[in-house]
Amino acid sequence: MQIVFFGIGYVGLVQAAVFAEAGYTVMCVDIDAQKVADLKAGKIPIYEPGLESLVRDNVKAGHLLFTSDPKEGVAFSPLQFIAVGTPPDEDGSADLRHVLNVARSIARHMDEAKTVVIKSTVPVGTADKVRAAMTAELADRGRRDLRFDVASNPEFLKEGSAVADCTKPDRIIIGTDNLRTEQQLRELYAPFNRNHEKIIAMDVRSAELTKYAANCMLATKISFMNEMANLADRFGADIEKVRIGIGADPRIGYHFIYPGIGYGGSCFPKDIRATIRTAEADGFDPLLLKAVEARNEEQKSFLCTKILHYFGGDLRGRTFAMWGLAFKPKTDDMRDAPSRVLMEALWQAGAKVQAFDPAAMDECRRIYGERPDLLLCEGKEATLAGADALIVVTEWKQFQAPDFLAIRSALRSPVIFDGRNIYDPAIGERYGLEIHSVGRRRPS
Ligand code: NAD
Repeated sequence: MQIVFFGIGYVGLVQAAVFAEAGYTVMCVDIDAQKVADLKAGKIPIYEPGLESLVRDNVKAGHLLFTSDPKEGVAFSPLQFIAVGTPPDEDGSADLRHVLNVARSIARHMDEAKTVVIKSTVPVGTADKVRAAMTAELADRGRRDLRFDVASNPEFLKEGSAVADCTKPDRIIIGTDNLRTEQQLRELYAPFNRNHEKIIAMDVRSAELTKYAANCMLATKISFMNEMANLADRFGADIEKVRIGIGADPRIGYHFIYPGIGYGGSCFPKDIRATIRTAEADGFDPLLLKAVEARNEEQKSFLCTKILHYFGGDLRGRTFAMWGLAFKPKTDDMRDAPSRVLMEALWQAGAKVQAFDPAAMDECRRIYGERPDLLLCEGKEATLAGADALIVVTEWKQFQAPDFLAIRSALRSPVIFDGRNIYDPAIGERYGLEIHSVGRRRPS
């Protein structure tokens, strides 16, 4: 079977490579000619565990092809996946420009029937818009005779474990109102559906909403825990004990109830905002989701408030070591990362940042360029030299069991601001370090 992927970012490239590994031949189309050239030369544009060898092997085997020519892509297969970005518009709603450009491009170049599968995260009703855009384009070409169908197949991979998630998905949502399309997609996903049934077929609109509902639910869990962490902080309780206490109830469970300095990344913030805007545009007031978003925005300044308080409200001339820049471990993605809000607030207050991240250094350089108040260090130890305090922003494994004595002797003030609650304040105390966490009680 041959497949085409439009958009080779975190989703398109990973899913295309996983399909190629399963034995399909996949043509990847991207408007970013540099990215295409790099991939053809074996250079992988993103950090994702397991991706590099997967791409290289499949390029070598001729299973993974790249082009920036949409015409070539459209001609390659009846099955066309759209996995382009859906960034937030100015008002927070999903910008469907890239999705609709691809749809028009497919209609412009097609000469045979096509199944268009939307993998990008899109608001309910987008498949209808794609259908309308393609119908208009075909009418302009005088080719109303050409048949096509539009299906929804949202992606649930997590950055940092994207290859594993696509190889062994929890579920495969197929949204279509057409039995033939359902059969086509069931056949495509058969290699990933062997051990137990993972395919959940439904109508297109339900599939589109399933993706937003999943991300809204996950974001709600995080904001809920962050709200509880704020209460714990005020009342002198320890949120980690509370977390363990509530997770024991199987109706609540332990998954995804970690407090911290807010969710970030390329999905949660924009998807929650897009769901809010879609609801409001339809005259519905999404009270809960607005609160989830508001708590998250507040939460990003949680550590900064603590830092300011510790240093008497004046950070001018201070230097902070920062461990972690990516919005979560095992990725280089810094889109909407809490680290950015924190760094920018520290700069605004007149402080300097000395940062290290195992994967996101290039991305940080790309975003901020050279600036006198940012020093990107070779390793986590190097960030500590001359720093007033250490701030932990991303819970990379490399940061979880540090040499507290070395930290204590390198820092000007014996204090760590732990934005991910990875250190036990009582252990810090033994090394003479004050650890300020998110809702954790410090030894009195
Ligand atoms: P990305 O920004 O990493 O990649 C998008 C790619 O699309 C870019 O390479 C861009 O050049 C390309 N593109 C834009 N217009 C194009 C066009 N007309 N033709 C061909 N290529 C074009 O985005 P991503 O993170 O892979 O996300 C893609 C979609 O999947 C989004 O809707 C996102 O919300 C969703 N999603 C993302 C994740 C994630 O963890 N990143 C997870 C699930 C779903």
